[in-house]
Amino acid sequence: MSFAGEASSDVPTLPGTHSGIPAYLLEKARNAKGDVFDGRTKPIKDRQRLPVVPQGIERDDFLAALAELKVQIGNENVEINDKPLKDGWYMEHPNTHDMMTILDEEELVASAVVYPSSTEEVQDIVKWANKHRVPIFPISMGRNLGYGGAAPRVRGSVTVDLGKRMNKILDINPEDYTCLVEPGVSFYALYDAIQEKGYHHLWIDTPDLGGGSVIGNTVDRGVGYTPYGDHWACHSGLEVVLPTGEVIRTGMGALPGNNTWQSFPYGFGPYSDGIFSQSNYGIVTKMGMTLMPNPGGYESFMYTFPNEEDLAPLMEIIRPLRISMILENVAQLRHVTQSVAARGLPRSQFYSGTGPIPPDVIHAAAASAPVGDHTWAYYGMAYGPAHIRAHKLALVDAEFRKIAGARKVDPATLPADEYYFSRDRVAAGVPDIHELRWVNWAPNGAHIAFSPVSPIRGTDATRLFALGKRLHDAYGIDFFPAFCVGLREMHLIVEIVFDRDDAERKQAALDCLRDMIDEAAAMGYGEYRTHLVLMDQVAATYSWNDNALMKFNEKLKDALDPNGILAPGRCGIWPKRYRGRGWEMTRESGAASEGDGVGPAPEAKCDQGEFSGASHPYP
Ligand code: ADP
Repeated sequence: MSFAGEASSDVPTLPGTHSGIPAYLLEKARNAKGDVFDGRTKPIKDRQRLPVVPQGIERDDFLAALAELKVQIGNENVEINDKPLKDGWYMEHPNTHDMMTILDEEELVASAVVYPSSTEEVQDIVKWANKHRVPIFPISMGRNLGYGGAAPRVRGSVTVDLGKRMNKILDINPEDYTCLVEPGVSFYALYDAIQEKGYHHLWIDTPDLGGGSVIGNTVDRGVGYTPYGDHWACHSGLEVVLPTGEVIRTGMGALPGNNTWQSFPYGFGPYSDGIFSQSNYGIVTKMGMTLMPNPGGYESFMYTFPNEEDLAPLMEIIRPLRISMILENVAQLRHVTQSVAARGLPRSQFYSGTGPIPPDVIHAAAASAPVGDHTWAYYGMAYGPAHIRAHKLALVDAEFRKIAGARKVDPATLPADEYYFSRDRVAAGVPDIHELRWVNWAPNGAHIAFSPVSPIRGTDATRLFALGKRLHDAYGIDFFPAFCVGLREMHLIVEIVFDRDDAERKQAALDCLRDMIDEAAAMGYGEYRTHLVLMDQVAATYSWNDNALMKFNEKLKDALDPNGILAPGRCGIWPKRYRGRGWEMTRESGAASEGDGVGPAPEAKCDQGEFSGASHPYP
């Protein structure tokens, strides 16, 4: 099978490519790429549904508008999306569609991509979109894997790829432990820059994979695994281009001449940052992030527990330890099926039958691996100098050993490429690329997540586990649950791995997700984050008091974005022009993502140049 040279090209690297891999991970990335393309059979197909033009504008008018945009932003910085859709892989991901699509691959696609180089150009693009009533969709890196990747929610939107040309680290402050970044700065790039400067007293916090944008991950409320793992809570200060083209700075950034934008997030007045996360109210062009002080030492630990029923008593043990910060990071309690898949081998090497892989097969596979057989694996990290770590580790050990059969894994018995060491690096703020290995479980492996929030309690964990297991069994899907324990709550992350070239398995995955979301909501559990295709359904579960929250969100949307041009439908928030026309994706709408047209736009003031939105180059 040929992938038009895709499989044989080398992995792009930093700093030459903003989305590239750092040198210390290059070999690992090359191997990961080999594994991905070994399992790839999905052909690159000719496009069937061309040209792509967003609803609400005639084709000729749209092409004329794009020509105008080319004059403004530069011919080479506006690309029409009419070529075959290449899925690439993590390090060479597309910016036109979801490389892990669960729908028909031509459903959620962009009509064109534009690459701004500055906040001013982002303002120009926003004003252009208002003038021509073209939906635009901002991405920073476009790697939002499992949540829609780079795809826009409205087919035919013009993707604003901020990362390619706006990728500067504007400041790293080694005394205040803060930084200020543009959208195209990845966790890899931030880590590299800090190492290069020799600032070994500064730590970053990274998600499982380090290729995402610091801004993109934070505005979508992603998490990492040091004590600074709640990225949104750790950011300080935004610069935002509003949907009508003005630019604002939040918090202390609104005070001219301030020197506290990155150290005090609130400023004066309403705390407006919240409306720019998981929303479609603005385009973030700069963000401040706090950095963690090097704790002066760290030590990973891993315990395994033998039985599924250990889950409930374990949660009761974990809760007080986590709330009192004896367990200091967003730690993970992973199920053995995912531990086996994390070896990166295809499922077919273990089992050739259909339906969920039988437990005895999984346990036999686990028993033959270096960690040994288990049902649950807990990965944690103790921070600080040795005597402080020893105190915390002793408390954890005494508590965990109350579970019969609990076993502390000795890292000295593990080979260097064992998953444990990836968790060790990530919890020490060193970005890695190991995590995507379990996606190779299926040929043409893709993944999509169900991620409900619950209290850290045995009863809740057991209910959610039983719900997920029952529905996975019903749809013949292997069950990969991991409980990620925050401070006072936990996210259960259930990743469904599927073959993106198998329409029947995609449908099963989608049906299973829709059932899990509805049933979990009926029990009082809601998602912390979701895929584009599921956003309407998840938003509708937050319905208290006759959907009061969504009514408020719509009021904000209509006030801030009267023409409804910015990421319509993202997070279930539809602008007025789209409402009541069947744009919502639900179980009933099936795989169709589009509604029946858009309504007329109100005469927008920004058309008349009223919102000139003077911008202020940094600082
Ligand atoms: P990642 O950082 O994981 O590669 P993206 O860059 O795709 O992810 O960002 C995730 C999502 O967050 C996007 O789909 C988009 O909706 C939103 N987003 C990303 N960057 C911005 C931004 N600068 N301003 C507003 N929304 C953004």
